[in-house]
Amino acid sequence: MKYPNDIMSKVLYTEDQIILKAKELAERINADYDGKPLTIVCTLKGATFFFADLMKYININCNIEFIKASSYVGNTTMTIGNVQISNVMNFVIENRDILIVEDIVDTGLTCDKLFEYFRKHNCASVNVCTLLDKPSRRQVGIIPKYCGYEIEDEFVIGYGLDYNESYRNIPCVGIINKKYI
Ligand code: 5GP
Repeated sequence: MKYPNDIMSKVLYTEDQIILKAKELAERINADYDGKPLTIVCTLKGATFFFADLMKYININCNIEFIKASSYVGNTTMTIGNVQISNVMNFVIENRDILIVEDIVDTGLTCDKLFEYFRKHNCASVNVCTLLDKPSRRQVGIIPKYCGYEIEDEFVIGYGLDYNESYRNIPCVGIINKKYI
């Protein structure tokens, strides 16, 4: 069964726009981290599409890792303050420059928790590269060092972002049509 044609009330960013943005951000990352012990950490599942685009343009030596950070429960569109992280135990953090790749920074609680974890394990530095940022929703003082697009307080889907685990594979980012929530 195909997705409804009107699942998005508005398309915000097309695949081509996102790929160009990934290239732009990767060039900044290449310049900033050249010669540093960089580990790029992709947060599952939402950031995977953007991460793949970004990594194609990263041309410096780095490790890549995947972690799962969950704050959403079930089919809600609200962030729950209780962030759970998995797989962080399985890679070296000490003295590494950590760059977390996120799909979206909303309240900032997920990043805040991740920053705290990496700092506690003596990373050399920790920063975030996010495709989308909703600064109006912020509850903590997280400012993404690399940000694709700032958006309004709307629930978006596509390009890795889900609603109740669906719609991640839509090849653009858009606002979900409220009639499907
Ligand atoms: P934060 O901890 O910053 O509030 O939330 C980060 C996570 O919440 C994101 O990685 C993402 O999974 C989810 N999230 C926040 N806003 C949205 C949204 O508009 N759409 C979707 N699909 N997920 C969102």
